[in-house]
Amino acid sequence: MSASNPTHTKPSTAATTVATDPKPSNFLRQIIEHDLAAGTYATRHWGGSPGDAAHHAQGAPDPAKIRTRFPPEPNGYLHIGHAKSICLNFGLAQDFGGVCHMRFDDTNPEKEDVEYVNSILDAVQWLGFGWQANGTTHLYQASDYFDFMYRAAEHLIEAGHAYVDEQSADDMRANRGDFGKPGVNSPFRTRTPADNLARLREMRDAQHADGSMVLRAKIDMASPNINLRDPAIYRIRRATHHNTGDKWCIYPMYTFAHPIEDALENITHSICTLEFEDQRPFYDWLMARLIEGGLLNAPPPKQYEFARLNLTYVLTSKRKLAQLVVDHKVNGWDDPRMPTIVGLRRRGYTADSLKLFAERIGVTKSDSWIDYSTLEGCLRETLDSSATRAMAVLDPVKLVLTNWDDLMGANFLDDCSAPIHPHHPELGKRSFKIGKEVWIDRSDFEETPPKGFFRLFPPHVNVSKQAIAGSKVRLKYGHVIECTGCTKDADGNITEVQATLLPDTKSGTPGSDAIKVKGVITWVAVADSLSAEVRLYDRLFTDAQPDAGGKDFIEGLNPNSLKVIQAIVEPSLASACADEKFQFERHGYFVADRVDHAPGKLVFNLAVGLRDSWGK
Ligand code: ATP
Ligand code: MG
Repeated sequence: MSASNPTHTKPSTAATTVATDPKPSNFLRQIIEHDLAAGTYATRHWGGSPGDAAHHAQGAPDPAKIRTRFPPEPNGYLHIGHAKSICLNFGLAQDFGGVCHMRFDDTNPEKEDVEYVNSILDAVQWLGFGWQANGTTHLYQASDYFDFMYRAAEHLIEAGHAYVDEQSADDMRANRGDFGKPGVNSPFRTRTPADNLARLREMRDAQHADGSMVLRAKIDMASPNINLRDPAIYRIRRATHHNTGDKWCIYPMYTFAHPIEDALENITHSICTLEFEDQRPFYDWLMARLIEGGLLNAPPPKQYEFARLNLTYVLTSKRKLAQLVVDHKVNGWDDPRMPTIVGLRRRGYTADSLKLFAERIGVTKSDSWIDYSTLEGCLRETLDSSATRAMAVLDPVKLVLTNWDDLMGANFLDDCSAPIHPHHPELGKRSFKIGKEVWIDRSDFEETPPKGFFRLFPPHVNVSKQAIAGSKVRLKYGHVIECTGCTKDADGNITEVQATLLPDTKSGTPGSDAIKVKGVITWVAVADSLSAEVRLYDRLFTDAQPDAGGKDFIEGLNPNSLKVIQAIVEPSLASACADEKFQFERHGYFVADRVDHAPGKLVFNLAVGLRDSWGK
């Protein structure tokens, strides 16, 4: 992808690759193109690792033209919304000769689970991205910057830009004011830097109770932007941190930590979701103060906001997804109904399909809902050209060819074949048998067919009292047959369908299409059929916006989101590998389950139907 870098130094190749770059532009690409043309970040140096101004100053000019980052909190599994952010941040770095940092935003001393850390790294790599660039591993954790963050806090105090506030939480809230009312200065706001410094050190040294005081930036209590009304930047919290243990009992607030993390890592374009828009002035304020003080490298990173992904029928909140797991509404984070990356992967989604989705939905500055069918469409598109074809019978009923023994000989099995992929003849053929008995789908037979039904029906008298002959139908890749009747049990359920085989009609033999038929059905010969567990998944929610307006999303769960059936599949599927994708002809795309599928124990998940059937 770096070949499409528009600032590529080899002019001849650059000109041609830029011209063929198929990626649609968006406001972020335009900002980056502008910054590259203007040389906004051309003077930066890179110290070889994250660090302060002095560290970077002694380094060489930054080999990365831009730096972006993907900064998840390791408190759950990543979901489809994160996939959008990953494709965006890593994709922009790739396309513009930059580097994207993988950063764990772990400044909250919450219990971080190594399970989450590993799953996040795995998800990013599975999507096809990495954090290795210019001989360096750009894998970072924000908690490694705690020492610097503390130093920055002391600096702000010394420069008169921060103070320790001992108002109660209630007073602090009341004195913040609201949209129509300016805030009121804290009585502690006029403390001297020396007093503030002493207080902060006491906070750090565990001499005060949790919540008894906070460090606040000193900006403007009358600012129309409430985020600038002296925001808290450090709080006391006695908690053991997974990385720093009990070293700290004060922790930086996210809004203070995040800009510093970006600056230490020489990030140029810090891309976040729209809800952080009102934080941008504080981001810029903090960068300016710390650059003035000589602590951080200039020019500083800049924050840009884009619309988060909202997908219908889907929850995109780690916390809410965790609740589904904890409450056993689904079978784990990787349940194929989950919008987690592990869930989507198990459902049959490929990295290409998620990248196509990210590209197709684009990047905008206003919130909107993307229809779930857009995601499914991307999967269908990528699987159509790659998935191996196979025949499967999901709801089997036996079809008996009553003249088989006379025509072909008793116990005779004839060879049939079909392309592995209809558009890739080079992939070869799959072979299977046809015999006297074959399995067909129950829905392919109607005793009294509705109008326009072209599959199997026996001779009958229709509503207009006309005698109708049994239908002639092709068994796909096999022969033409004529339906003659069916057998039912005492309850009226059809237990067997009968037909006769028409001679000289086998697919691929001369004259086989002399008899024209309107219906073609899929089937599997009883003689070489395999049994498989098939998990028919549907949307997890029937409610298009399951958590909108604070709704209880549990109420919107689809009670029919999983149906497990025992199906019949063709013999070529004996060698299906876990994670291999198939198109079961006429049924949809299926994947051999990554977890439960094994040789001799076939398990397939429905990935997506052949066409969009929802909302119809
Ligand atoms: P959650 O509420 O699910 O925990 P989050 O935003 O807190 O989500 P983080 O782990 O902090 O999750 O997110 C890492 C990155 O992923 C952030 O830069 C965030 O902007 C991005 N991100 C998270 N959710 C979405 C979404 N729905 N659409 C686009 N980007 C998202
Ligand atoms: Mg979060």
